[in-house]
Amino acid sequence: MNAVKVNRKAEKRLESGHPWIYSSDVIDAAGASAGDAVRVVSEKGRFLGIAHYSSTSQIRLRLLAREDRAVDRGFFLERLRAAIGFRRRAVQDSDACRLVHAEADLLPGLIVDQYGPHLAAQFLDQGMDRAAPLIADCLRELLNPASILARNDVPVRRLEELPLEPAVLHGEPPARVEIRMNGLALLVDLRHGQKTGAFLDQRENYVAAARWARGRGLDLFTCHGGFALHAARSCESIEAVDSSAAALELARENARLNSIENIIWREANAFDYLSGLAAARRQFDWVVLDPPAFAKSRSSLDAAFRGYRELNYKALKVLAPEGVLVTCSCSHHVSEADLLEIVASAALDARRTLRVLERRTQAVDHPILLTVPETHYLKCLILQAL
Ligand code: SAH
Repeated sequence: MNAVKVNRKAEKRLESGHPWIYSSDVIDAAGASAGDAVRVVSEKGRFLGIAHYSSTSQIRLRLLAREDRAVDRGFFLERLRAAIGFRRRAVQDSDACRLVHAEADLLPGLIVDQYGPHLAAQFLDQGMDRAAPLIADCLRELLNPASILARNDVPVRRLEELPLEPAVLHGEPPARVEIRMNGLALLVDLRHGQKTGAFLDQRENYVAAARWARGRGLDLFTCHGGFALHAARSCESIEAVDSSAAALELARENARLNSIENIIWREANAFDYLSGLAAARRQFDWVVLDPPAFAKSRSSLDAAFRGYRELNYKALKVLAPEGVLVTCSCSHHVSEADLLEIVASAALDARRTLRVLERRTQAVDHPILLTVPETHYLKCLILQAL
């Protein structure tokens, strides 16, 4: 295995529990090529760990192990077995879950989601991309899946100069799979759905949000209907809004599949839709905001804060007295403290008093690594107007 020498700053970063080393902290990578597993050593030659090397990304090294070991079939089998074992303990309410959540399973750059008998994976760096056939082989040994699809059409792969196209690694992935989640049947579009097909990270938040649902509901950025479908039996009626006609088509099918008839699906821009509702003086007892990540990078943070603020302000304008607001952010650049502050400021502007019922995050099969703040990306606040 080739060695890559890193500076003191990188060494400190590893000591702080973070698995990434940036290109500016690499002193000598002469022997390493794209996607290699390498030994990371300090300036003085001390062994620091084993990592995947990227020849193009700012994140030059991603730590795989702190002990000196080969990154071979045995390594992947061990890591995958542990990841799967944890999900078997942690997830009982669904036959779909995230089996491998990258850093939080000590497999940076790798995502594996299970949808019933089918698997969908993402290989996000050069190292994992090169190991894809081996990983697929290990997954077959451990789970005997009907199919494995690599949803490699993710923009972050550009930073690794890897192609952005899906690839079939095993079997014949169907266009759609029907999964069970919290007692609902849901259709997942394996080939075109966002992420690897569904928002598995909101699974527990759907249930938590639905617990507070009653009266008139409003689900903004509904996509395939996750929040609305879970709350339909508790509400008189729900309006569910998304700007994507294709997403709403699947949402409608999901409703039919579960014999749910009290959701009105609206194709619209959520900001404009809220303005229209406010102008018509409409009020809702339960409002969900689950927008896409507004802050994709640090540089877009100011605009993102303004976006979240405006959205929450508009939502509060249509929230009935005693109404419940479920507000989410999936930008890891926006902390929970940031989101609380944004909503507080929107509430002051809208002259509403809110109390916090729940402060939630991504489902437990998407664990947060304690020393890696980037892994805490999803925030979900449940608030009530007084
Ligand atoms: N709540 C969903 C996930 C939402 S993902 C669930 O739990 O399943 C974000 C969604 O916002 C996508 O479906 C996207 O089509 C939609 N979207 C993005 N911008 C929008 C806008 N301005 N108005 C309405 N929908 C928008």
